Amino acid sequence: MKYIFIIYTSILFIFLPIHGFTQETGTPGKGEGILQFLKRFERTKPEHYTQFMELNKSKLDKNNGLRLGVKYTLPPMNREGNEPLFGEKLAKYTIESDELKGACFYLVSGHGGPDPGAIGVLQGHQLHEDEYAYDIMLRLARTLMSKGAKVHIIIQDAADGIRDDKFLATGDRETCMGDPIPLNQVQRLKQRCDKINTLFRKDKEAYRRAIFIHLDSRSESKQIDVFFYHYEGSAKGKHLANTLQDVFNKKYDKHQPNRGFSGTVNTRDLYVIEQTLPVAVFLELGNIQNSRDQQRFLLNDNRQALANWICEGLTQDFRHYSK
Ligand SMILES: [Zn+2]
Repeated sequence: MKYIFIIYTSILFIFLPIHGFTQETGTPGKGEGILQFLKRFERTKPEHYTQFMELNKSKLDKNNGLRLGVKYTLPPMNREGNEPLFGEKLAKYTIESDELKGACFYLVSGHGGPDPGAIGVLQGHQLHEDEYAYDIMLRLARTLMSKGAKVHIIIQDAADGIRDDKFLATGDRETCMGDPIPLNQVQRLKQRCDKINTLFRKDKEAYRRAIFIHLDSRSESKQIDVFFYHYEGSAKGKHLANTLQDVFNKKYDKHQPNRGFSGTVNTRDLYVIEQTLPVAVFLELGNIQNSRDQQRFLLNDNRQALANWICEGLTQDFRHYSK
């Protein structure tokens, strides 16, 4: 029994440090300031400095300087986040920057639950709008979060993470943050708006934006690629829609110069952008029933590119308001 106890405690001591108890330390060189010291250990971001000060407050001298011969705790190199909705492989993500710190997003993929949205058909497969919109929305969420943004994922599917498949399996598991989605259109839209507005009232960020992602388009014209809608009375919504359009223009010029891109910014009486308290934009990223547009959604790289472009637009818009 005694031996078992000894073995058990030694195992415990071997494993303890691995489970988060190890914190790197370092001792300063002669005349070294905090910034120099942190740079030597490759902690060069502003948040590293802030964290270092918090961790070592009691060990600094009167003038908040380093003392020779003292061991200081180093802030972790990268911070990690965890969002199980991204799926097993991608749940963990690295917060690479604080670019979007102070921004808060409400992300909604169109339709979901009993409503698949528009349905396209390709090579005998059904393409459901809600599944593709959901995948792009999750990719966008992860990208935003890796830049330090706060993100509320309003439409959720506990089983589908970010998927790389060309043909995304269809399902009706999606919920509105855990609540079953009603089939009735008005109830369905009201439910997601109510959810956003409840969160909005609690969130303290000055910059809060709701993004609705759709892959259908009610336009008769086949010429137009992407629609960015905002609420008529909202100057901030208009600014965001224009910023997004601008990013998309530049990306299309770069990647498909011969094809040309025509995205339009419009106002529209859409229930969701009228009823949500945060500034909102409604995106139609193409039409899943259109064979040319289908290519944009089928490849996972393309879905990621769309997410990255939206993220880039949101980042520019956030910067504009946080100057
Ligand atoms: Zn739709």
